[in-house]
Amino acid sequence: MDFEFHDTPKLAKLRNEVRAWLDLNIPMDFEISDNPHDVLPGSTKYEFIREARRKLGAKGWLASTWPKEYGGGGLSVDEAAVVDSEVAQRPWSRFGVGDFFVSSLGFFGPQLLMMGTEEQKKRFGTPLLRGEIIAWQGYSEPDCGSDAASVKTTAIRDGDDYVVNGSKIWLGSQYDNADYIFVVAVTDPKAPRRRNIGLFLVPVGLPGISKVRVPMMRNCHTGGWHIFFENVRVPVEYLIGGHENATNGWRAISAGSSGTMPPQINLGFTVRDHNQEFVLAYCRETKHDGQPLSQDSDVREALVEVEIQLELNRLFAMRQNWLAMTGKRLVGYEAAQTHLHRKDVTAIEQSDAYNDILGPAALMKEPEWALFEGNIEYQHFIPVAHAAAGTTAEVDSMLMARWACRIGD
Ligand SMILES: Cc1cc2nc3c(=O)[nH]c(=O)nc-3n(C[C@H](O)[C@H](O)[C@H](O)COP(=O)(O)OP(=O)(O)OC[C@H]3O[C@@H](n4cnc5c(N)ncnc54)[C@H](O)[C@@H]3O)c2cc1C
Repeated sequence: MDFEFHDTPKLAKLRNEVRAWLDLNIPMDFEISDNPHDVLPGSTKYEFIREARRKLGAKGWLASTWPKEYGGGGLSVDEAAVVDSEVAQRPWSRFGVGDFFVSSLGFFGPQLLMMGTEEQKKRFGTPLLRGEIIAWQGYSEPDCGSDAASVKTTAIRDGDDYVVNGSKIWLGSQYDNADYIFVVAVTDPKAPRRRNIGLFLVPVGLPGISKVRVPMMRNCHTGGWHIFFENVRVPVEYLIGGHENATNGWRAISAGSSGTMPPQINLGFTVRDHNQEFVLAYCRETKHDGQPLSQDSDVREALVEVEIQLELNRLFAMRQNWLAMTGKRLVGYEAAQTHLHRKDVTAIEQSDAYNDILGPAALMKEPEWALFEGNIEYQHFIPVAHAAAGTTAEVDSMLMARWACRIGD
């Protein structure tokens, strides 16, 4: 089956327009590394990322298929695929600049669109989809991760406010600030599981919110945050869907798996892997015993193995997008399979292969030794640190098994 995109003349015209706009507005040659030190708020690179997101958002190209009245681009899915594939090829796209699937947009955006009041969609949706504000995901707690329905944080109604108590952990990213946290909390402790939960968009500045750093491998220099809520009064305007949806939060949280979300595409994983491109070029240019590394049979074999896994990833990602674009079943085993292969197979093989090929330099981040601005060293964090991010390998496997055995949630 052919999952590749084939432009019609109309789409080819759009592609040219997008390319020209990107060349003009977000320069190609901006040098940027994965080193979290380089992308802390206030740094040139951080400001570049935020500004690029705002520019894409203002064009409606952060959430291209979303309605224009809420800050989206109002494009069809195949038009959005053209926009996304052009954005994904830019070097800065590695930082989620154009990535719809950062948590602000990819998780919370659809929930807001699905369950938010008209006022909330306009008030929060528009700045979110235009890249003006950032919201962190507040699901996980010290004793609750994979099973999001087991949250202990409570939000108990008191007049027109909800009083929130509890804590959320592992929040944040190297792009290290947020305007809001979208928080899952129990609003009715006596109601049955999954019918007792509300979804709030909590402004980070409310009294009673405090935070401490949690060391995390993925954001090795900055860590994540453990956020505490102590009698935080959250006005009802921040409860998604208002009072009448106070116990309907699970509907929004599980929207991804119920197929009720609008079609989404994510072409970030369909372009060539930047690290592999670097290593291929390095092996062609670097000589060992008088011949390029790329002529060594062991090196060639290791590179080919990585190349095969990366190509499989690309095909899985193409299939995901093809499913979304053709309106076919969006979430079965496919997303879990794609996720699992990317995290558990490719990332590990890639790190091992780069160690074998590049030797100690693959483990150095000091500028005088590091390869590809430290990206090769950083590659080693990915399989370990990403193992639990989003879902774990076991949960992915279980989702696939459930699908295979036709067992529901
Ligand atoms: C880099 C990173 C960033 C993160 N960012 C955020 C964030 O921004 N916001 C947020 O809310 N959370 C965030 N998380 C938390 C993440 O969502 C959780 O780590 C994840 O959901 C797993 O939960 P847990 O760590 O509590 O493990 P648990 O759910 O306690 O799982 C422990 C072990 O049991 C296994 N297990 C659990 N359930 C099953 C099952 N049903 N069948 C088989 N095995 C099972 C798991 O696979 C795992 O091995 C982040 C995590 C990481 C690593």
